[in-house]
Amino acid sequence: MGKRIIVKFGSGILATQRGIGLDQRQFARLAREVSLLAKAGHEVAVVSSGAVAAGLDALGLKARPDDLTARQACAAVGQGRLMACYTGHFAKHGYNVAQILLTHGDLDSRIAYANVRTTLDRLLGNGVIPIINENDTVAVEELKFGDNDRLSAEVALLADADLLILLTSVEGLLDSKGKLIPRVDDFEKVARFVRDEKGRLSVGGMASKLHAVQIAVHAGIPTVIASGRTAGPMLRAAEGKPAGTYFPPQTVCKPAYGSEK
Ligand code: GLU
Repeated sequence: MGKRIIVKFGSGILATQRGIGLDQRQFARLAREVSLLAKAGHEVAVVSSGAVAAGLDALGLKARPDDLTARQACAAVGQGRLMACYTGHFAKHGYNVAQILLTHGDLDSRIAYANVRTTLDRLLGNGVIPIINENDTVAVEELKFGDNDRLSAEVALLADADLLILLTSVEGLLDSKGKLIPRVDDFEKVARFVRDEKGRLSVGGMASKLHAVQIAVHAGIPTVIASGRTAGPMLRAAEGKPAGTYFPPQTVCKPAYGSEK
């Protein structure tokens, strides 16, 4: 049976190696793989960064500015280019895309939450691929820390997703020797492995990803962190096959501190 899957593409896998502009080859491959998932009967929504990277290129900047407002301006310039890129690549596979720009504040409002949910449902039901990004003009949280990691978990909850896949520039969660950890049942055990390295344009880092994973798995949504630079992890994860690091759902709540007495 088809699953509802939220996939998150960070700047680190969408931008060129220099971090300026969008990597068209990556877009071509990712659009092809998402289209294969859709053709296999899955409903897929993409949470995508890349607006800043696209804006840097458009404005002729050589590096990501330190100034937050300058990054917001880059995102405002780049968001249209990002959507044009997705529109073109998905059209080759017969899919329409839809732009959804959200802030965490939107998701705190009951009415806005319900509106986003019903629109998302309709789009997915009509076979459209929603492309969701933070509205960087209005909110700066993901521009500062998250690169849409937390947003992707919140969207997974909102969409009542069956699976969340975070694609990143590394293979998955790595141990202190750099070896892939294939499955994580206990977050406390892996916390010490997490080196919060960030790529040049990868804003989120692994700590931000693990935080997002915890939100999703505690809501009962299995989550995978895998490489977005190699072919296949999305398709394997959707089929329940090994791909990157798998985090099973954790629906059993631990008692709150002090409540055992
Ligand atoms: N929403 C931003 C983007 O799409 C977040 C990533 C960043 O800060 O570069 O580019």
